[in-house]
Amino acid sequence: MSKLQSPGAVTRWNGEFASATIESAFLREQGSAIQHESARSLAFCALFFLAFALADAAHLGYGSATLTLFAARLAIAVVALTGIVLTRRSTNPAHTAYRAATAFTSLTMLTFLLIAYFRGDLLLHGMSMAIMLIIVYLFIPNRLVTATTIALSASAAFLALVHVFDMASPRQLSTMTMLLMLANLFGAIAARRDACLSRRHYWTQQILIDHSVRDPLTGAFNRRHLNAGLLEQEIDRARRQRSALTIVVCDLDGFKAINDTHGHQAGDKLLQDFAHLLLSMTRDGIDTVVRYGGEEFLLILRDTDLAEGQALAERIRAHQAAASSLHGEVRIQATASFGVVGARLSTSLPGIAGHALIAHADELMYVAKRSGRNRVHAAEWTPPA
Ligand code: GH3
Ligand code: MG
Ligand code: MG
Repeated sequence: MSKLQSPGAVTRWNGEFASATIESAFLREQGSAIQHESARSLAFCALFFLAFALADAAHLGYGSATLTLFAARLAIAVVALTGIVLTRRSTNPAHTAYRAATAFTSLTMLTFLLIAYFRGDLLLHGMSMAIMLIIVYLFIPNRLVTATTIALSASAAFLALVHVFDMASPRQLSTMTMLLMLANLFGAIAARRDACLSRRHYWTQQILIDHSVRDPLTGAFNRRHLNAGLLEQEIDRARRQRSALTIVVCDLDGFKAINDTHGHQAGDKLLQDFAHLLLSMTRDGIDTVVRYGGEEFLLILRDTDLAEGQALAERIRAHQAAASSLHGEVRIQATASFGVVGARLSTSLPGIAGHALIAHADELMYVAKRSGRNRVHAAEWTPPA
């Protein structure tokens, strides 16, 4: 029943999560790390690329060819700097860093072809190209698919340049082709391994986090998660957004008798089915279902006023009253009682303590119990006297 039941499978060929939702959650979580890594690698590569203008001057002298290449190298440095600044300002740093990497590596490879054409030394440039391919695959953060496309296109363009302008003998060209194929192969394999490992690590972390915040029997959030400030966060959020917040405390009726009559495992099955009903009738990722005690649950309903919260509690009550849990051959039925408290919140109104809100809903739930069970009692929040 846990919301992380779907396995975080990583697609082998592209080193990304098969689920686009999990992939974008991963990239959001990694945003800051990717931003720093991207800034470091872009700055380092741009400086290196610029410093190699000295090698141009040594080979070509201080004429127009060296100046043209220097202008191209400078433009690359500007692209890197722009990418670093945009990524730092971005609300989705991983996405922007990837775009910056694509622009930077594509332009660097193009410029490199120009440099190779002007300088003409095939062996030196072939080896430099192989090193640059490894940098594209492993050093500058980007999607594996994009890095592979850029690396393969640059390799093909480089070999075509050498061939078209007759810059090497057939033997040299075939050796160079092998070298670049090897660089591409090892680069892509290592980059894929790295992408898969970081995603597996992330997914393991998500599972551990999920286990620490959820109740294993029902899949609802546990008391520890509630005590870590869950309700207070929702109250703060509602105050900031001047919206309504409703909480519901609900408790199965006569649950002890069910345990006593049908056994603890039958009671567990009933608890699981009730929690499943609560989770399925509330909005995933918006409302919160907490197992508050043994057979007592707390619902935190975001942007929900008292009338809406009461109507939902009534619908859940009716479903539960009509439902039955199957344990082996035995069908077990149990109703539930509900206490609902709705609060209108705003930063201009006095704050509300989470525990006071729960205590109020709990009181109302006990009123429902005393009035005969299987009913909903609701009230607008009133501060304790
Ligand atoms: P009421 O209608 O007043 O709520 O009565 P009740 O019998 O539901 O409530 P009571 O508080 O008397 O009993 C709750 C029982 O829930 C007692 C406890 O053993 C049982 N319980 C608590 N946690 C679990 C659990 O995880 N599994 C099972 N099977 N039983 C549990
Ligand atoms: Mg009970
Ligand atoms: Mg109880």
